[in-house]
Amino acid sequence: SVMDLVDKMDENEWNYHGEGNKSLVVSHVQMSRVLRLLKYSSEDAENAPQTTEETFRQMENIVDFSNNVMSPLLGDKFVHSGEVVKLPLEFVRQLSIKVQHHRPAWRCDKVMDIYSGAALCLPNLTTPSIPTHNPPLCVEIKLLSSSRKGLEQHRRRNRQRMYFAIKHLIEEPQNNFKIFKGGKCIHGDRDEMLSVSSLLQKLRPYFSCGNGRNKTVLHDFIQVLVDSLLSSDEEGDEGVERRLEGRMVCEASLCSTEFLRTDPQPLPRDSVLGRILQVQLLDSLDIEGLLPLYRRVEQYLHHFPKERSRLQIDGPYDKAFLEKLQKCPAEDDGSIEYAVAKVQQYRVAMTAKDCSIMVTLVPRRDEEDGSERAAFSFSASILDLDPKPQDGVRRQQRLDHRVVSAYLRDDPGPS
Ligand code: ATP
Ligand code: MG
Ligand code: MG
Repeated sequence: SVMDLVDKMDENEWNYHGEGNKSLVVSHVQMSRVLRLLKYSSEDAENAPQTTEETFRQMENIVDFSNNVMSPLLGDKFVHSGEVVKLPLEFVRQLSIKVQHHRPAWRCDKVMDIYSGAALCLPNLTTPSIPTHNPPLCVEIKLLSSSRKGLEQHRRRNRQRMYFAIKHLIEEPQNNFKIFKGGKCIHGDRDEMLSVSSLLQKLRPYFSCGNGRNKTVLHDFIQVLVDSLLSSDEEGDEGVERRLEGRMVCEASLCSTEFLRTDPQPLPRDSVLGRILQVQLLDSLDIEGLLPLYRRVEQYLHHFPKERSRLQIDGPYDKAFLEKLQKCPAEDDGSIEYAVAKVQQYRVAMTAKDCSIMVTLVPRRDEEDGSERAAFSFSASILDLDPKPQDGVRRQQRLDHRVVSAYLRDDPGPS
């Protein structure tokens, strides 16, 4: 395990894997593991590097929040919290030099933390450790903060709308859609953008027995994705498989009635999307309703700063934190506890609006009956479940305000 390796880490065994706004991720060349390191802005004084101790506390908080709050809410089969590791500083420095020229230029306003040695070690979700004849495919969909409306509409599931939403993501990924093949990002990074037709070229071996037309490959690919996002199968690790039989695949066209009929079923509660939606809906109050409660908390803390830790404002994110959040009374009783619970519910919902879904597709081929059939085992995971800062509530409020006033400006009103 990485824990055993920590003393003899070799930067040659780790490759740049990807990054977001807050962290940079490297993957091991052999083990199915990644390291997630924090980044900070090299210019912004507000985000000046913290002390080593603070960085480790922040990392522990991330793991606790994932383990004790998000995992129980979302389902532990979807969530992999990882563990905090302490890396040798020399290794981290060499690593930062090695990855630098693989980083997209537009991300380089931030630099990797090379001072603390703190990292999160996680399973590499893009390289499941199951031997396969074709390298596994993995699709990452990043939900955007505003996606609640989108998901809510899907509550009355409409397969067709979802189908076209995914098709649109494939055609125009904007940092919210990536495809990995054998652990390597082949589509979606700003620098790794394939035309749709060359993407389909790469996907062809997985579908339609390797000889389908582009349209069919795209169609089957989207179907498998929609299936995985909506699957609520409890079979466990293996997931469910979708069999694409040779004949059916060739006959299916984008306009087939079988796929385009409206499908008014609800979003399955135990599907990965259903679980995320339920957590997003924890923000039962909109930002206008939340603001007075947020002020109540701020004011209270101003008068009683020592109450901050009893109220677990910034953690610890333990079982008690989750309980307080879940046992919040339905009506405002004027208490500080009520206000805190509502603000925390809002923060948890914010995390669920900003996460990524990773769908792993492991190809299988049934040789037995001779009929050429492609099948996948699929499984879904949810990643990027960091706690959102308390003052994020304010930032979100400013954002919402701008949206609302822009909307009002555009609205000609009753005439
Ligand atoms: P954001 O800006 O979306 O908040 P972030 O800075 O919090 O992102 P992550 O989303 O956690 O960072 O990680 C960055 C990228 O690294 C992800 O989009 C994903 O492609 C990859 N990644 C993260 N964790 C894993 C993992 N466990 N296995 C494989 N790839 C991963
Ligand atoms: Mg992310
Ligand atoms: Mg994040």
